[in-house]
Amino acid sequence: MAELNTDVRYIKGIGETRAKALEKLGVYTLRDLIAFFPRRYEDRSVIYPIAELPVGETACCQAMIAAPPTSHRIPGGRTLVKVRAVDATGVLDVTFFNQAYRQQSLHTGESFVFCGKVEGNLLRRQMVNPLMEPEGQHQLTGRIMPVYPLTKGVSQPLMQKAVRQGLDACRELLPDVLPDKVRMAHQLCYVNYAYENIHFPASFEALEQAHRRLAFEELFLLKCGLHLLRSRRVDVAGPRCHAVDMQPFFDALPFPLTDAQRRAIGDAAADMASARPMNRLCQGDVGSGKTMVAAACVWFAAQSGWQSALMAPTEILARQHYENLAPLFERFAIPCALLTGSTRAKERRAILEGLADGSIGLCIGTHALLTADVQYQHLGLVVTDEQHRFGVAQRSALGQKAENPHMLVLSATPIPRTLALIIYGDLDVSIINELPPGRQKVDTFTVDERYRQRLNGFIRKQAAEGHQVFIVCPLVGDGDDLPDERKAVTAYAQKLQTEVFPDLRIAALHGRMKPREKDAVMAAFAAGEADILVSTTVVEVGVDVPNATLMVVENAEFFGLSQLHQLRGRVGRGKDKSYCVLVSQGGSEETRRRLKALTETNDGFQIAEEDLKLRGPGDFFGQRQHGLPALRIADLNCDMRLLDEAQTAAQELLAQDGDLSDPAHRQLKARIEELFEIHAEGLN
Ligand code: ADP
Ligand code: MG
Repeated sequence: MAELNTDVRYIKGIGETRAKALEKLGVYTLRDLIAFFPRRYEDRSVIYPIAELPVGETACCQAMIAAPPTSHRIPGGRTLVKVRAVDATGVLDVTFFNQAYRQQSLHTGESFVFCGKVEGNLLRRQMVNPLMEPEGQHQLTGRIMPVYPLTKGVSQPLMQKAVRQGLDACRELLPDVLPDKVRMAHQLCYVNYAYENIHFPASFEALEQAHRRLAFEELFLLKCGLHLLRSRRVDVAGPRCHAVDMQPFFDALPFPLTDAQRRAIGDAAADMASARPMNRLCQGDVGSGKTMVAAACVWFAAQSGWQSALMAPTEILARQHYENLAPLFERFAIPCALLTGSTRAKERRAILEGLADGSIGLCIGTHALLTADVQYQHLGLVVTDEQHRFGVAQRSALGQKAENPHMLVLSATPIPRTLALIIYGDLDVSIINELPPGRQKVDTFTVDERYRQRLNGFIRKQAAEGHQVFIVCPLVGDGDDLPDERKAVTAYAQKLQTEVFPDLRIAALHGRMKPREKDAVMAAFAAGEADILVSTTVVEVGVDVPNATLMVVENAEFFGLSQLHQLRGRVGRGKDKSYCVLVSQGGSEETRRRLKALTETNDGFQIAEEDLKLRGPGDFFGQRQHGLPALRIADLNCDMRLLDEAQTAAQELLAQDGDLSDPAHRQLKARIEELFEIHAEGLN
């Protein structure tokens, strides 16, 4: 019997070839398949009398074949089958191109439902290549049909059929993760009903019911999951730090800190000097100087004898931190170490020893810091940089390297307050809303295709001056197709190389590369080994390339403003004047207005608020950047009320069963652990 994690290829009616195609949509298991929700629906539930078929629209009618079909050969070797169908109100002429087999399957006197675009005039209706099925079958017509996002090799009917098979295969399998009490109290439908009707709604009311139930479930799981991750840290003692004067540290810095930096440091120091473990998020725009806030905390903890760990999302960022901070701490006799996946065995052993005997005060690294054999003598502070690249679960895994260390999270993604509450509901927040003085503004322009020649000239000019250029490559894939980023990036880089800049050195970077490969490409670019880096948005969070002075974003209209702002933050990091060019094709008034906001301000928070207003919070959740399970169905813009309801329900339940150990909540807990990738043995 199938299970939810059964590979789709073993599901009846799917098989090897289709499974391969489905993989491209991220559908691997039965669970993925049924959770692959329609993008929209097509209402084929209304059956019109022929005389009332709305011309110009897609509609269905039921009609009887009135005479044998005729078949003609037309130029190009194609066949044309024509047939006349009738009902009590009129005549429908149906034409099929290249479907010669229709001639055998259409018999006079049989009734079919036809569904297609209605053409013709009031007297004579016709359809070309309509969908059709025998009267009474109701699989393709006579109902509301789902429309799925597609990719090459997966057609709409294939997807519909696959989901149908999937639903049939798991009818008996779906556990209801919502406790009955919650389900009833909030008038939510059963899980089977929900999945059936989100895909193949019996009616629009049923669809609404299904949607409500699934969205509620998602938000409820999110809330409960966050609680489980955190609950370990309430009402426990943290590593106690003495309140010491920080002036000696400030005096050692090459620049005075901004007021905002000082405020954030003050907040954090107060946390660490209190009896409780710190749980603080430090949010600040790119370049606002978050690293120094972290450094101050490390210094503060060290004054009380605590070790610190600083985790960065990539090896190259970790190295950059190490190179910046190690000399600073050396002056205070706080030894630093760098521990990453590529640290040599011998050095690694020495570092592990130093951490275990307490002689290393600060260890900077990547995920490598999480491996089980990394033990600290007295870890007091854990800093995670660019937190949204890490799972919430990973953050807490590092926290478990010690009793209850202080936690500081640095994030450059400005998240509006309402969302921050959901994502970081457990964290106190310090905001750095000020850039160090003397920062240059990155001049930003929005242009369209007509500017292409001049843009190429501008890129060439930057390169000629010895500067470097980022190009975020266009998203290909049309209609319902999802783009394949690896192909898009390599093809675009190739095209630029051969057709536009044969004399320049072009490198390429995309998210499908292994972390090691990405780091290597980034490092080479930072070292000046290429003039142009073509990439996807993976460059969004990254390493300093002070020599890069131009960021070009193709198809800028597809990105959120905050994301564009992050991308723009990749340039303007050195002493040279920098630019950002947003290329969008023609575009609507709306698009232009949206992009204009970027040319007018450099303030990430203002941009984030604007983004939230214009596009809704979907984007913040769309990308799994925060390490939380993606919201696939709940839309916080529309579902705010539901969010409230789900939050309250979660709180009520957790008040009674804080660790979800009640057998009645077994399914709920299992699902949360799966979603949040919480494993009993930690995260390795
Ligand atoms: P982010 O917040 O993006 O992590 P960083 O900490 O990397 O920013 O700081 C960006 C740059 O600004 C670094 O080169 C850092 O040395 C510098 N910097 C940080 N604080 C100040 C300050 N108060 N005055 C001047 N430069 C600063
Ligand atoms: Mg940073």
